[in-house]
Amino acid sequence: MEVRGKQALRRARARGGSETESETSKVRFDIDIVMARVREAVQPYPKAALFELAEEGFSSVFEQLVACIISIRTLDEVTVTTARRLFEIARTPAEVIKLEVAEIDRLIRDCTFHEPKARTIRDIAITAAEQHDGVLPCDVEVLLGLRGVGPKCANLALGIACGQARIAVDIHVHRVTNRWGCVQTPTPEQTMVALESVLPKRYWVEINRLLVPFGKHICTGKLPHCSTCPVLEMCRQVGVQRHS
Ligand code: SF4
Repeated sequence: MEVRGKQALRRARARGGSETESETSKVRFDIDIVMARVREAVQPYPKAALFELAEEGFSSVFEQLVACIISIRTLDEVTVTTARRLFEIARTPAEVIKLEVAEIDRLIRDCTFHEPKARTIRDIAITAAEQHDGVLPCDVEVLLGLRGVGPKCANLALGIACGQARIAVDIHVHRVTNRWGCVQTPTPEQTMVALESVLPKRYWVEINRLLVPFGKHICTGKLPHCSTCPVLEMCRQVGVQRHS
């Protein structure tokens, strides 16, 4: 993925953005350099929740899917502790089925929408047990056919648990890649499709692992820290009105 300076400026102007002094001094966008710098920059920060859980051993398709459902509209730090609490009691479909919905609900009570999520998690466990011999397969159609599972969770589970090249776009990946000027899309769903055309496959899983902490701590939503950002010279800062 390479975005030349003049091309990016034309695209920024076409989007109604203004050309700032810093934009005129931008250099060619090199995705390999950008990813290497972001990789280094996020090292001090906590890992994205699902990657953290995978490193702790919760790396099956079922565990990743359950953790992703818990993570919806929930802070990463809450996701990790909540998923750990559930997995201490039940981490396979067979174990989850033994729990009543009320018990699952109690275990995941710290996440948002815990009651419907508890029902969803138990339903997925039942489907896994009855239709897939207790083990969810690395099959996108199967995962997307589960109630409550969307493209982001399916792609994260398949990317992390199965090693498949899949892009999972959350609000951070969406915001940062649009600011970089690599895509120009109004929704995370459209960003996922657009990135498939411009992002080298070797980064399809890692983009989420890196841009979640990068978006939380450096390229933040309201006031990104551009002046100290390691990719400032290459980033087109599309739509950035104010920054620190
Ligand atoms: S912090 Fe600023 S310079 Fe860095 S990626 Fe975000 S918008 Fe670009």
